[in-house]
Amino acid sequence: MVKRDKKLKKDISKKLFEEAKRYIPGGVDSPVRAYKAVGVEPLFIEKAKGSKIYDVDGNEYIDYVMSWGPLILGHAHPEIIKAVRVVLNKGTSFGAPTEMETEAAKLIVQAFPSIELVRFVNSGTEAVMSAIRLARAYTKRDKIIKFEGCYHGHADSLLVKAGSGAATLGIPTSPGVTENVTQDTIVLSYNNIEEFEKTMEKIGEEIACVIVEPIAGNMGVIPPEAGFLKLLRKITGRFKTILIFDEVISGFRVCYGGAQTLYNIIPDLTCLGKIIGGGFPVGAYGGKKEIMEYIAPLGPVYQAGTLSGNPIAMTACLETLKILSRQEIYKFLEAKASILDKGFKKNAKELGIKIFHTRVGSMLSVFFTDKEVYDYKTAMTCNTDNYAVYFKEMLKQGVYLAPSQFEAMFLSGSHTMEDIEKTLSANRCALKNI
Ligand SMILES: *Cc1c(COP(=O)(O)O)cnc(C)c1O
Repeated sequence: MVKRDKKLKKDISKKLFEEAKRYIPGGVDSPVRAYKAVGVEPLFIEKAKGSKIYDVDGNEYIDYVMSWGPLILGHAHPEIIKAVRVVLNKGTSFGAPTEMETEAAKLIVQAFPSIELVRFVNSGTEAVMSAIRLARAYTKRDKIIKFEGCYHGHADSLLVKAGSGAATLGIPTSPGVTENVTQDTIVLSYNNIEEFEKTMEKIGEEIACVIVEPIAGNMGVIPPEAGFLKLLRKITGRFKTILIFDEVISGFRVCYGGAQTLYNIIPDLTCLGKIIGGGFPVGAYGGKKEIMEYIAPLGPVYQAGTLSGNPIAMTACLETLKILSRQEIYKFLEAKASILDKGFKKNAKELGIKIFHTRVGSMLSVFFTDKEVYDYKTAMTCNTDNYAVYFKEMLKQGVYLAPSQFEAMFLSGSHTMEDIEKTLSANRCALKNI
């Protein structure tokens, strides 16, 4: 039972953080993990199982971060752990083809309407970086269009008005990225049909690709407005510009074939990551055969990886996709997420607190603003101090949320009805402190 307002033990986390900062910049290997946006020190994690995560001080939390999205089946899923154990005994990396890669690729091709060939890499960043290179080579054009607040990993050319940690820390464009690199990146506002249309009419023939999160998940969750994705498809088609769906979050999250299946829009290239790694570092990019055949060794576009497609990650990928392909989980996730979403709305309404709630399937956001959030600029009207208070109160009551207003909340197949009920009562208590 989650005790209300109990004092969190945090001595060991505190000590480990001090030690970490002596050897690792900021004590962390990815910036949002430092909890800067919520003004507390990070928890050091000892272990996790199912929907629960445990810190080194022995506190238990219901986890809605889920390693930032990958763990759709929950922590340490028995079938994945079992399969990984078996392959571990046969060796960890060969740098040569294995049957697992083909099997995993086959499942991805079958699941995604737009993918005929797929290449595995080690992260979402790598997938996106490679897809952009491929699009530029294929179209023989330089310029790309991205949307404000969409995060596509930390490749130089995409670190322009990006979401996620870049939004949280207020570094829309990172120092160290040269103007030469970003001058070919055009940034437009998400969900703005008119602006996109006008820009393409002017310079459509110079644009190699348009990259978009079909469901924005890195400025909080912002669904695409009706007609937005359809228009992207129509106009990119007209100018022979490649449409890239960055489904690193939404792929296998919102339904088995990703956002493109949910909205019935077929992009030219798709980037995947997070869920397909089953908790291991994996990314992938895929699409039409004609385009994908431009990649070496078939074509001239170079892209490689020492550990790409390694047997451990591929086993976790394959097992995860096998379980997801049964598709039962999506109904379950929809039902639970809907109860959570409705409960959040009811609590906020009854307490008279202005909050804008968004949800697509099992991705949710609670925006502390009285505005309707449909793009980056309105997302930025959120009161992040209120989010920080909310985060801390939820933590005290045993609910672990992302330490930033601009990250999604993720449900997994391991979240129980009891978890949902506890979360809703914690939410009610936490909102009373706003
Ligand atoms: C997380 C994410 C990435 C980057 O993936 P990494 O594995 O962190 O490099 C790219 N695009 C989107 C949409 C993401 O959510």
